Amino acid sequence: MIDVILKKGKEKAVLHKHPWVFSGAIERVKGKPDNGDIVRLANAKGEFMAYGFYNDQSRVALRLLEWDEAVVIDESWWRAKVAVAVAARDSILKDGITDTCRLIFSESDYIPGLIVDKYADHLSLQILTSGIEKMKPVIIDELQKRLNPASIFDRSDASSREHEGMAPSFGILAGNQPPELVQVVENGIKYGINIAEGQKSGFYCDQRDNRSIVASHAKGKTVLDCFSYTGGFTLNCFQNGAAAVTSVDSSELAIETLKSNLDLNGFGQLQHRSIRSDVNKQLRQFKDDGELFDIVILDPPKYAPSRSALDRAARAYKDLNRLGMLILNSGGLLATYSCSGAMDMTTFKQIIAWAALDAGKQVQFIHQFHQPADHPISATFPEGEYLKGLLCRVL
Ligand code: SAH
Repeated sequence: MIDVILKKGKEKAVLHKHPWVFSGAIERVKGKPDNGDIVRLANAKGEFMAYGFYNDQSRVALRLLEWDEAVVIDESWWRAKVAVAVAARDSILKDGITDTCRLIFSESDYIPGLIVDKYADHLSLQILTSGIEKMKPVIIDELQKRLNPASIFDRSDASSREHEGMAPSFGILAGNQPPELVQVVENGIKYGINIAEGQKSGFYCDQRDNRSIVASHAKGKTVLDCFSYTGGFTLNCFQNGAAAVTSVDSSELAIETLKSNLDLNGFGQLQHRSIRSDVNKQLRQFKDDGELFDIVILDPPKYAPSRSALDRAARAYKDLNRLGMLILNSGGLLATYSCSGAMDMTTFKQIIAWAALDAGKQVQFIHQFHQPADHPISATFPEGEYLKGLLCRVL
């Protein structure tokens, strides 16, 4: 096995079992590993530190897998990692009202670069590292053994593969082509999911818990669901007796799927309006028209892809939330989210406080939202924490 030598003074994160080693922390590589090969990381004295995937194209040159020198990373090691992650989702999938969730969440499940989502009997995979790409056959085999899925679909078309110097990969890996819309259940609500063409791997199951928390406040209320996608919050609010829901999204496909999801659940006759528009523009329109709501939901895409984008993102979040506050009835609720990993909860609260000042409103935080149990945060990989939100009472 090829040795990679760490620069002196860069040991701390490795000793703390953080799974990333940046290229700048590497002193030298003894030999020429292929990208995706497992290498042995040693300190400047040549002493073993960890095993990890190597990739010379990526800023994260090593993704560490194992810190015990005696452990052999063979097929059974991989199978065990998959098994542990899948078993941890049992309680979510056995609640009888949910058959879709994230089964494997990359570094947070100690499998760097592998994301697996389950949609009823179908699986969707994203392979983001060259190391996992090499292990693909074993991983597919283990998933088949454990779950016997009707299909496994490769959605590794994400731009993050470029960072590892890998071409996109897309298409059926096992089983038959899934239907255009796979029907799933979440919180007892049915959705049609387009595994091949939907955003991310098809559905945002990270908002499952938060949808039902918001919906618990929606009985008899008027709700504005901004960045609705295929209607996660919209449908949960209707299920809990919302009087009327307006859903706004810029994607035609999202709106079309949302409408068919309403029908799928027998909500087709309820007071619903969908608007295909830019959310900021639409919020300004509501403000100009004097249209107010009891609950406003803001679940935008990632505004800050990195720390360097944080300042710009902060302004965008502030402006969006200010507008959201201005179209709420007094005492109304704002459910606002950020899925930017670079933004922490303290900063997000500060931004909401600034938005409230600008809007001339008083805001009370009455609930803090997080990512659910199928998107765990490893204690040694805080970067895995990305989804946060606040339920605000706006006076
Ligand atoms: N709330 C959704 C997930 C939102 S994902 C759910 O519960 O499933 C973000 C959504 O924002 C996507 O559907 C995307 O099409 C939409 N979007 C991105 N930028 C937008 C914009 N400027 N205006 C309106 N929608 C936008």
